[in-house]
Amino acid sequence: MFVDYHMHTPLCGHAQGEMEEYVEEAIRQGLKEIAFSDHLPFVHLPADHPWHGRYAMRMEELPGYCEAVLKLRHEYPEIKIKLGVEADYIPNKEKELEELLSQHPFDFVLGSIHLIDDWPFDDPSLIDEYAHKDIDELWHRYFAIFISAVKSGLFDSMAHPDLIKKFGFFPRAGVQIHYENAAEALAEAQVCLEVNSAGLHKPVGEIYPAAAFLEDCLARGVAVTIGSDAHRPWEVARDFAKVKELLQETGCKELALFTGRRKTLHPLTF
Ligand code: ZN
Ligand code: FE
Ligand code: FE
Ligand code: ZN
Repeated sequence: MFVDYHMHTPLCGHAQGEMEEYVEEAIRQGLKEIAFSDHLPFVHLPADHPWHGRYAMRMEELPGYCEAVLKLRHEYPEIKIKLGVEADYIPNKEKELEELLSQHPFDFVLGSIHLIDDWPFDDPSLIDEYAHKDIDELWHRYFAIFISAVKSGLFDSMAHPDLIKKFGFFPRAGVQIHYENAAEALAEAQVCLEVNSAGLHKPVGEIYPAAAFLEDCLARGVAVTIGSDAHRPWEVARDFAKVKELLQETGCKELALFTGRRKTLHPLTF
């Protein structure tokens, strides 16, 4: 009963393929349920900021995005299609985000951190910036923002939870303390953790989150969602065999699904 809860569309400006192609690939892969989760406009930037159309959809495109997903739901009755979104958590802009999210009938909201002090740290074209940064400090900043995001109550699941490892820069002091603090916050707030296969194709070459991070979360009763983070139709459900392996190894027994922002847990049978 595998599902893919993290798929993009060309509206964000850096994904390709028609939405129908994503759905058809999901059907071909035998998925029973998918959620589109394209990048929500940034709530801290003006509508005409150049990052809209490059990192995220434009504000004026959001209603059409929602309508397109709802329309696909009727065109493809053979698969469940959820209306999701991937929303950047911007510290101190919780009200603005809450307001924007309340205007559309989302089933599922993924929270993510792609910005540290307005530096898109996961953009490969801006990787030179790492040379000027202290990696330990960056990991602290990333997880401080992550934990605020979790506590904000705005998100159903946290996307690519250890994205800060993307280029393989690890802190000298180790990762353990960050993973522990994050797991504690997720458990306390009852927010899900996304198991995201895209990391396998990044320099770090491993699933987000690290196995130890996932194990810690599972031990504390945190539920998981699954996503490929597809930015092209053929990436839908990519490497889900490896996701399955990781879930099996870490003893994950359930998968979280969402309808109208309400979570239900479903047994995983391997
Ligand atoms: Zn993206
Ligand atoms: Fe993301
Ligand atoms: Fe994404
Ligand atoms: Zn993403």
